[in-house]
Amino acid sequence: MAERLVVAGAGMGGLVAAARARELGADVVVHEKGDRPGGSMLLSSGVIWRYRDFDRFRAECPGGDPGLQRAVWEGLDDALAWLESLGAPIVARDTGNPLTTGVRFEPRGLTETLAARAGDVRLSSAVREIPDGAAVILATGGFQGDRELVRRHVTPEADSLVLRANPWSAGDGLRLAQARGARLSAGLDEFYGRNLAAAPRIEAADFVPLAQVWARHAVVENAAGGRYRPTTWSEVDVVQWTARQPGARAWYLVPNEALSETVRERTVGAAIAAAEAAGAPVERGGGVTRVEVVAGITTTLGGVRVDARGRAADGLWVVGADAGGISTGGWASALASALVLGRAAADDAAGQPS
Ligand SMILES: Cc1cc2nc3c(=O)[nH]c(=O)nc-3n(C[C@H](O)[C@H](O)[C@H](O)COP(=O)(O)OP(=O)(O)OC[C@H]3O[C@@H](n4cnc5c(N)ncnc54)[C@H](O)[C@@H]3O)c2cc1C
Repeated sequence: MAERLVVAGAGMGGLVAAARARELGADVVVHEKGDRPGGSMLLSSGVIWRYRDFDRFRAECPGGDPGLQRAVWEGLDDALAWLESLGAPIVARDTGNPLTTGVRFEPRGLTETLAARAGDVRLSSAVREIPDGAAVILATGGFQGDRELVRRHVTPEADSLVLRANPWSAGDGLRLAQARGARLSAGLDEFYGRNLAAAPRIEAADFVPLAQVWARHAVVENAAGGRYRPTTWSEVDVVQWTARQPGARAWYLVPNEALSETVRERTVGAAIAAAEAAGAPVERGGGVTRVEVVAGITTTLGGVRVDARGRAADGLWVVGADAGGISTGGWASALASALVLGRAAADDAAGQPS
C-alpha cells in the first residue's frame, strides 16, 4: 500500500485497525476528536465476547446480517489471541454468562496497549471530511451523542436519555460515509444501553454501578401504569422500551422477597442501595420496593452497511459502532465486532494495491 492510511477515531475499532495496519507495514495516522484515546472502550467493562453457538447468535439477533455475524463469530477467538499477544491485560478468561464465551480485559491497560501500537494518534483532531488520496477507516463510534439523529431514528424522547458513552461519538462516521455513497444498515432505530437509577447527576464513573439490570425480577411500568415484560437475557429490549416512554423513564417494582436475587455478581437489593445512595427515587411499602430508572444510551446498533472486511465504498472502510446491522434485533458484544472488523479492515486496506 503506497498511500497513507487515515483512521478516524481512537476507540476500540480505530485503535485495533491502526495497530494491525502498522503491524503490516502501513503508514498510518489516527485522528481522535476527543482529548484522550479509548472512546467508550475506556469506560466499558472490557468484556469481549461471542455467543457459544452461532445458532444462538442468529436467534438472539435475528435482524443482523448473517455474513457479518459469521465473520465476527468465527474471527473472534483468533482476534482475542492477537490482543493478548500484544500484552493487553486480562482480568478473567470467562464472561460469567453460560450463553457466551470471551475474555474480560482491563480497559485502561487495553487502551494503552493499543494506543502504543497505533503509533501516530493525534488528539483533539476530528476528521471533518474524507481526505483525498488516502485510504480511510472510519471508527467514530456510532451516533448516540447526536440528539437530532437519535430523535430522528430512535426516540422522540431523545432529550431525556442519559448519554452512557463517550461524549464525542455523534454520527460523524455515518455522515462522512453517506457522503461517499455508502448505504445504511438495518436497525437504525436500535441501540444498546442500560436502564440507570434516575439519580439527579450521573457521571461516567456511575455508568456501571447505577445500571439496574434486574428487570427480569420486576414489574416494569411507565408513569401512566403501562407495563412491559422483558424478553431478553441482556435486557436490551427493556432499555429500548423505556427510551420510548414519557421522559425516557420507568419504574421497577420488585417484591421484597426478590431483593436477595443475584444478577451479575450483586443482589437486587445491592443495586437498589446504590440507586438510593445516588439520590434516585426509591419507594417502599406494601411488601414492594419501587425504583425509578432512566434509559441510558450506550451504542447505536444501526449504521453504515459494510461487508465482512468492513468495506463501505471504494477506498473506505467503516468499523466499530459506525458499522451497523450486526446485532440487529438483540445484543452482541460491540467490542468484539469492533475488534474483528477493525482487524479485517486493516488487513484489507493494508493489502490494497495503490
Ligand atoms: C459503561 C460501558 C460498559 C460497556 N461494556 C461493554 C462490554 O463489557 N462489552 C462490550 O462488548 N461492549 C461494552 N460497551 C460498549 C463498547 O464500549 C462500545 O460499543 C465500543 O467501545 C465501540 O467501539 P468503537 O470503536 O466503535 O467506538 P469507541 O470506542 O467509542 O471509539 C470511537 C472514537 O471515535 C472518536 N470520534 C468521534 N468522531 C470523530 C471524528 N469525527 N474524528 C475523529 N474521531 C472521532 C470518539 O471520540 C471516540 O474516541 C460498554 C460501553 C460503556 C459505556
